[in-house]
Amino acid sequence: MERNKGKLVIVSGPSGVGKGTLLKRVFNESGLPLTMSVSATTRKPRPGEKDGEHYHFIQAEEFEKKRLGGDFLECFEVFGKGVWYGTLRQNVESGLAGGHWVVLEIDVKGAKAVKEKFPDAVLMFIEPKSIEVLKDRLQGRGTETEEAMQRRLATALDELKHAGEFEYRIVNDNLDTAVIEFIDVLRKQQ
Ligand code: 5GP
Repeated sequence: MERNKGKLVIVSGPSGVGKGTLLKRVFNESGLPLTMSVSATTRKPRPGEKDGEHYHFIQAEEFEKKRLGGDFLECFEVFGKGVWYGTLRQNVESGLAGGHWVVLEIDVKGAKAVKEKFPDAVLMFIEPKSIEVLKDRLQGRGTETEEAMQRRLATALDELKHAGEFEYRIVNDNLDTAVIEFIDVLRKQQ
């Protein structure tokens, strides 16, 4: 890792696996100086999502300008079809310089790209108990169109194939157990 005081924690896993809920608990319960890196995206906000909190919701033109300007540590069209997601370099650098443990919740391609730049980053993969459970959760969320849901499912199945490339894998079946396992992995890094 570059010379700094903080740590980088990369969390990947298929859409619908419950990373958000798990991370919220880990943030509240770990007692570690964790900070979430807020990504930029060109996707539209879902009901209840706040700009600057869940994502920086920006237009495609602005995203492209930032991409060409080198503002992203990594960025990808996670589900294909022109929706971009990217990690803002500035978020990560200032978090690390401030001694924080910067958490990136990004897709598998992004995780690999960041790991190449920060070899000491901790790589964690959150997986579902089964593909059926994941399908039910994705469908039950009801925030996506059928087409978008199918794309998410296809990407999810593809992401699961890469689980073996991650240093740590956590099955999010029982939330309490997953929280404990996640925090244990973090404490090992101290
Ligand atoms: P959602 O649209 O459900 O918020 O997120 C979809 C997926 O995009 C998630 O699986 C998440 O890991 C990924 N993602 C979110 N932000 C970034 C980012 O900055 N870079 C990359 N590569 N993936 C991201």
